[in-house]
Amino acid sequence: MPIDVPKMDTAFTKLGLSDALAFGVQEMGYVEPTPIQAQAIPVVLSGRDLIGSAQTGTGKTAAFALPIIQKLGTHGKLRCLILEPTRELALQVEEAFQKFSKFTDLRVTIVYGGVGYGKQLEDLRGGIDILAATPGRLLDHMEQGNVSLANVDILVLDEVDRMLDMGFLPDVKRIVQKTPNTRQTLFFTATVPPEIASLASWALKDPARVEIGRQRSVAETIAHAFYPVVASQKFDLLQLLLEQTDFKSVIIFARTRMGSDRIADRLQRKGHTVGVLHSDRSQRERIEALEGFKSGKFEVLVATDIAARGLDIAGVSHVINYDVPENAEDYVHRIGRTGRAQNTGDAFTLVTEEDVRDARSIERFTGMTIERKKIEGFPYIYSALFDEKAQAEVAAAAAKPVSRLHRGVRR
Ligand code: AMP
Repeated sequence: MPIDVPKMDTAFTKLGLSDALAFGVQEMGYVEPTPIQAQAIPVVLSGRDLIGSAQTGTGKTAAFALPIIQKLGTHGKLRCLILEPTRELALQVEEAFQKFSKFTDLRVTIVYGGVGYGKQLEDLRGGIDILAATPGRLLDHMEQGNVSLANVDILVLDEVDRMLDMGFLPDVKRIVQKTPNTRQTLFFTATVPPEIASLASWALKDPARVEIGRQRSVAETIAHAFYPVVASQKFDLLQLLLEQTDFKSVIIFARTRMGSDRIADRLQRKGHTVGVLHSDRSQRERIEALEGFKSGKFEVLVATDIAARGLDIAGVSHVINYDVPENAEDYVHRIGRTGRAQNTGDAFTLVTEEDVRDARSIERFTGMTIERKKIEGFPYIYSALFDEKAQAEVAAAAAKPVSRLHRGVRR
C-alpha cells in the first residue's frame, strides 16, 4: 500500500524520480546514482526507447526498474514485461522490482521454466502489473491463454547477447510481436553482433543510446593473480589455496558441468559445504544452491559460466577460476563476482600449460599483466610453465591471432 514518505531532495529526485522512490533507494543504502542510472533514468521517464550497453553489476536493474515503477504508478493491468535469458537473472530482477515497489501497490511476478505451472498461473490470474520472464515458459503461458501482453506499455529485453547465445532470439521475436506497437522498448546488451543490431532496429524506434564502456577492466578492489600449476596438481593446489585463505564465501568456476560436479564432490569429501550451479541441475537444485550460498549454508559454490554473468551475490570474498575461461571477457565477469560495491575481494586463477594462450588473451583484453604467483611449500611438479624463456615463446605464439570459434563445450 502507498505510504506517506517525507519530501526528498536527493541525487535521485534530481533525475526526476518521485519522493517515494528516492526514499526507497535511500532505505536500500544507495546514495548516488551509478553512471548508467544517471544516464538512463531520465530517458526512460521521457518515454523514449533505449539501447543500453552496460553489464550487470553497473546498477543496470535499478536504471530501468525505478523509472518503470514511477511510470506505472498504481495497480492496473499487466503493463511491463521484462525478458531475461536465465531463471536466475529473472529471479534477481523480480526481487529488485519487489524491493523498489515496496511503497506502491504494484504487483510483480515471475514465470520461468523447470517448475510447475500452478503457482505461476495463480499469480497471473491474480492480476499483475510487472512480469519478469524467461522466453520459453512465457510462450507456453501465452499459448495456453494464461496471459495477455495486449496492454504492455514497457518492454525490457535484458542481456540480449545472452539470449542470442542461448538460441532464444526467435522466441523473443514471437513475444515482441504480441506486444503493442506503441510500447516503449528498453534493450540491454553488452555486445552488438549483427543479429542483435538487426533485432534492435526491428524492435526499437529512434532509441537513445547509453553506453557504459565495455567492462574490460578489473575493479581496483580486486586483487587477482595467476597460479601456474600442472594439470595433475590442480586439485591439490585448490585445496591448499582454500586452506590458506580466510574466506567467507568462495565461488569456484569450472569449464564444464561434469568438471564442476567432480570438484564439488571432492571438496565435499574434504569436509567443505558446497553448492553446485550449472545447466544440468534441476531448477530446484539450482535455487537451493544459490539460496544456500547466499545464506551461508554453503561456503563454496561451484559453477560454470552460467553463474558468471549477472548474478548479484553480496559478500563473495573469493573467486577461484579452477579452469581459465576460454573467453577473455568472462574473466572480468567471473572475478567481478567478488569486490562488488566497494568491498575488496581476491581472485585466483589456476593456469596449466594448456591454458597459457587463454591466459595471455585475458591479459591482452584487460590491458594488464597479471602477476604469476607460487605458493610457498607446495610440492610443485616442474613444467615449462615455470621457465620464463619457454613462457615468452608461448606468449609470442599466443600473440598471433587466434580463431575464436567455440570449442563445443556446453555450459
Ligand atoms: P545490477 O547491475 O543491477 O545487478 O546491480 C548491482 C548491485 O549494485 C546490486 O546489488 C544493486 O543493489 C547495487 N546498486 C544499484 N544501484 C546502486 C546505487 N546507486 N548505489 C549503490 N548500490 C547500487
